[in-house]
Amino acid sequence: MNNLAVIGSGTMGRGIGYVGALAGFQVKLQDISEEVLRKAEEYLTMQFEKSVVRGFITEEQARIAQNNISFTTDIKKAGKDADLVIEAVLELMELKTKIFKQLDEITPQHAIFATNTSTMSPTEIAAQTSRPEKFIAMHFFNPVPKMKLIEVICGLETSEETIEKVFAVGGKMGKECVKVNEFPGFAVSRMNCLIGNEAMNMVMEGVSTPEGIDKAMSLGLNHPMGPLELADLVGLDTRLRNMEYLYKTLGEKYRPCPILVKYVKAGRLGRKTGKGFYDYS
Ligand code: NAD
Repeated sequence: MNNLAVIGSGTMGRGIGYVGALAGFQVKLQDISEEVLRKAEEYLTMQFEKSVVRGFITEEQARIAQNNISFTTDIKKAGKDADLVIEAVLELMELKTKIFKQLDEITPQHAIFATNTSTMSPTEIAAQTSRPEKFIAMHFFNPVPKMKLIEVICGLETSEETIEKVFAVGGKMGKECVKVNEFPGFAVSRMNCLIGNEAMNMVMEGVSTPEGIDKAMSLGLNHPMGPLELADLVGLDTRLRNMEYLYKTLGEKYRPCPILVKYVKAGRLGRKTGKGFYDYS
């Protein structure tokens, strides 16, 4: 396992690229947008600098890791010599299946396919490829360099060998892997989306302000971050897609809060656009 292709270089893809490069993988970060790749490169430079200043890594480690990363808009270039592909594109089933069908044609037969989906069925995506036994979900958390967990979700046909290899990769990246059986939303998103949605309903009902609700949750339940701050960090568009999928698969209690729908329609997507439940300008 030397070559890692990351498909989609937004919030999660660039973070996965960072931990992959530090773990010694040759990382190819791919995206359809040149602009996203440019921002990913800026983010990575800043992240390596910060980690050196804070004493987490040496200058030499940062230099080697940075040299391990390349950027491309061409999925063929990214996939042609991959040992492992981690997909981190938008949370849309049709898009993910389309990309993996394409990767199935491009990548070597031994390559393992992992999706970073927060909620969706790896079995359903794997069924569109010729290698369901090599298909798995590696659910990283945001911000990837900081968060310790990778939720590993096995599809119906995922082989033991694939699970073992993915656990080894996670370990090399300095993460803890927890194996979870497939069910919409897995373990973390299923609970976390519900908490976030309830917090949004409480804002709508006038229970308190976003600041009030976040402070109450942080101090009352010892959450390091309140649910609305966290939703802004995730991206409200991403959170809405998660809620829509959970609503479709698990029912009424996951109906997306109207405020969330309204904010996304207005382009208030959280930190990435400078405004969500909070103003970051
Ligand atoms: P994002 O919107 O920040 O990034 C998605 C990227 O995919 C964009 O840069 C977009 O240009 C790119 N893209 C779209 N179509 C593409 C294509 N055909 N080929 C290549 N790239 C394409 O989204 P994100 O927050 O990074 O989420 C990505 C995935 O990770 C989603 O499945 C999401 O549910 C999951 N996830 C997100 C978080 C989070 O906190 N944001 C946490 C865990 C998992």
